[in-house]
Amino acid sequence: MITQQTTESALEKKIQREPILKVEGLKKYFFPKKSIGEEQKVVKAVEDVSFELYKGETLGIVGESGCGKSTMGRSLLRLIEPTEGKVFLEEKDITNLNRKELRKARKNIQMVFQDPYSSLNPRLRIGNILEESLKIQGIGNKNERTEKVLEILNLVGLNEAQYYRFPHEFSGGQRQRIGLARALIVNPKVVVCDEPVSALDVSVQAQIINLLRNLQNTLAVSFIFIAHDISVVRHISDRIGVMYLGHLVEEATTDELFANPKHPYTKSLLSAVPLPNPDVKKERIILQGDLPSPINPPSGCVFHTRCPMAIDICKSVSPKRTKVSNTHGVKCHLNESV
Ligand code: SF4
Repeated sequence: MITQQTTESALEKKIQREPILKVEGLKKYFFPKKSIGEEQKVVKAVEDVSFELYKGETLGIVGESGCGKSTMGRSLLRLIEPTEGKVFLEEKDITNLNRKELRKARKNIQMVFQDPYSSLNPRLRIGNILEESLKIQGIGNKNERTEKVLEILNLVGLNEAQYYRFPHEFSGGQRQRIGLARALIVNPKVVVCDEPVSALDVSVQAQIINLLRNLQNTLAVSFIFIAHDISVVRHISDRIGVMYLGHLVEEATTDELFANPKHPYTKSLLSAVPLPNPDVKKERIILQGDLPSPINPPSGCVFHTRCPMAIDICKSVSPKRTKVSNTHGVKCHLNESV
């Protein structure tokens, strides 16, 4: 009990800190090419997403494929331009920086991609790939950069002999370590990890997740960890945000979300998580139908077409975020009346 209380108060302390990243009303719409006479379609990939990321924490973002979580992650760094909304990095709005200012700001916010192989130049040796990140930010002279590369290779569990190897000479797990090294070498404050373990074998996934946790303790960096598997997200996250069709429908500390989920979509995700005790049975909530298209999202609550708890108002009125606790918010009409 003492241990649990200590952990809870440590977490409470952690999330009361100043946010390092603040996202307000982020939207990303795509406008696909239209034929003559055809009405312009709008793909609403990210819709009015707001959250804060605190110093030294990991915020997991979970949701099924096509829910907009990766688009949201890329919009934070302006790898794709947000349509609307603000992103504050250490209180500085990075949504209206020019190219030069943005390049400078990216020293403090980096990204790790799902497929490290396609994001590594196959013609460059790993040492040169890593050094490139330092050059772009104007960090150090040649000797200092080499030293930093060797240091980061060690930190991510690779060795100095691998400095001269090419990307194709590494396994999937090793390439993801290189992806992490490339993001961390410039000493960022925030790293957005977009499905960093989805393409890896389960045993390698665990290694990378442990590595991320160790690196966070060593470097005091904050992570946004995007994944579709809530069991994976649980292992690394202090807090979790659940996305559905471009909306952030619920966010809470990891313990709170697992103990007291409020949104029917979160409940369905959690019902699919296997229990460690095979004798304990739980009811699986199987959603009907597929994720609707973001081109023509359902009216009202976007989840109403699949929600087993939907009521009349859900078809026409979009739910607002309501507070369950200081660290738990949800967008669902059922919670508004509580
Ligand atoms: Fe379901 Fe209605 Fe809640 Fe949406 S607002 S999650 S449709 S109950």
